[in-house]
Amino acid sequence: MKKKINRLKIYKIVLFITFLSATFTSIHFLEGNIPIYTKTDLFIEPYITHFRQGCNTTFLMSWDDARPTDVYLRAIDLKYGISHTIFAPSYRSYPNRSFWRYAFLLDEMFQGFDVQSHNGLHVYLSRYNAEEQEAFIKWGKTGIEELFGFTPIVFAYPNGDTGGSQYVKKYFTLGRTIDNGGTSWPPTQWEKEGVTISFNGINDKNLKDIPIILKQIFHTPGFHVFKGYSHSNLPGSDYGVSDFEKYETVIEQISGWENVWYTSWGELVAYEIEKNQISVSKNIVRCDDFIEFTLSTVPTLNTDIYNVPITVALSLPEEWSKPTVQIDSKFICEFSLKTNNNVPQIFIDVKPKQGNQRIKIWKNQPSIDHSPPEIANFRINTITYQENWELEPPREKTFSFLRFEACDEDSQVVEVNAMVTLFNNSQFFYKQMKNPIFWNNNSYGRVLWNPNIYNGDVQQISKQEVKSTTIIVKDGLGNIRKSTFDQFGGLIETIVESSNNNRN
Ligand SMILES: [Zn+2]
Repeated sequence: MKKKINRLKIYKIVLFITFLSATFTSIHFLEGNIPIYTKTDLFIEPYITHFRQGCNTTFLMSWDDARPTDVYLRAIDLKYGISHTIFAPSYRSYPNRSFWRYAFLLDEMFQGFDVQSHNGLHVYLSRYNAEEQEAFIKWGKTGIEELFGFTPIVFAYPNGDTGGSQYVKKYFTLGRTIDNGGTSWPPTQWEKEGVTISFNGINDKNLKDIPIILKQIFHTPGFHVFKGYSHSNLPGSDYGVSDFEKYETVIEQISGWENVWYTSWGELVAYEIEKNQISVSKNIVRCDDFIEFTLSTVPTLNTDIYNVPITVALSLPEEWSKPTVQIDSKFICEFSLKTNNNVPQIFIDVKPKQGNQRIKIWKNQPSIDHSPPEIANFRINTITYQENWELEPPREKTFSFLRFEACDEDSQVVEVNAMVTLFNNSQFFYKQMKNPIFWNNNSYGRVLWNPNIYNGDVQQISKQEVKSTTIIVKDGLGNIRKSTFDQFGGLIETIVESSNNNRN
């Protein structure tokens, strides 16, 4: 009996979709394009958006080889809210081969940038036999897993040579080339519609074309991905991007556009995978002061690593201009409101997790008890590695980084800052530490050894120099916790500031 009902329901939905696609072939109602609503179409069914936050264009930049000059990009991209992917060959990442690259890659990941695979060795894959190809490509995956504890899902072919692609398919979700719109397989819609700049990638001369191309694809109907790839280089070089001032002016021009999702390969591919595993239940509850529905998720990726939120969108009654969003017992802030023909539409980012999640949208903020954020497991770790394998005798370098967890029972952590004070009383403020997508939900970190070796401003902080560290965490309800730890992780003091609009 139960089965029959379910089948009937599915049948109805299929009919509904068929009807829509037959009538308005250009509108993908359940996934993607924002339909035009009239004021009478209140409470339009929730749907999963094609790209994050209902954007129609995605901007991707990737930098190959894990070059030291990539440190220049990080500061610029952080400033303008741009993301990027570093495609790193495994051999360059091993600490005993080149310490500073290792520190650099860790630093990239701590700040939420994406590191993916560029094969085991930087070779022309078609010059090797099948057995060797598989060994190289597999190492491209395991090398990064061993060192950083996360699994890369995207592979960039060194030199654009697609030899051994059957093994890339075996070990990765997606292979990136430098032609064919940027991907060799699998040929899904958004990959095909991408744009790359010239075969040899972005350089100082064609940097200026980025805003022109992005504008073109932005104004083309449908969903598109801008896929730029390049190499950073020493200032004054004629290969790749070496003029970082020019790079900054271009990034300034293309940042902050509405309906553009600035993301990385790892995040986009994870989004593509996970959004197909999410379904919106039909048991929608609609009351005067809240709307409630269930999302069913079956994550295929490890959500401790690829903790990539998927956007669910729906329209709200006109007078719901300041809604509050709750996912299960937690109030969240990762949503935005856009108005479409005077109808407010809400776009909520939901992190995939096994099973059902209940999404509740309140017309107004309900009265609730709330708790301040917590900080746990603070530690400063040190690792000693050989600085450079080419030096005889090899020099040793001690590398330190801080790690901790920040969590909140009934809300989200929205801001994490840290202040490191040394015994010589100098202080270093690390603003807006990001929750990196490659660490679990609550982990935060910072590399204290700065590998920025090219501007002569080497800032090495060893564990021994650290007198104290203050972590400042703010939650989505306005509560703040400031905790100060000594270098051994002992708690010196903790201060809690509650938000003024206490709703107890
Ligand atoms: Zn390369």
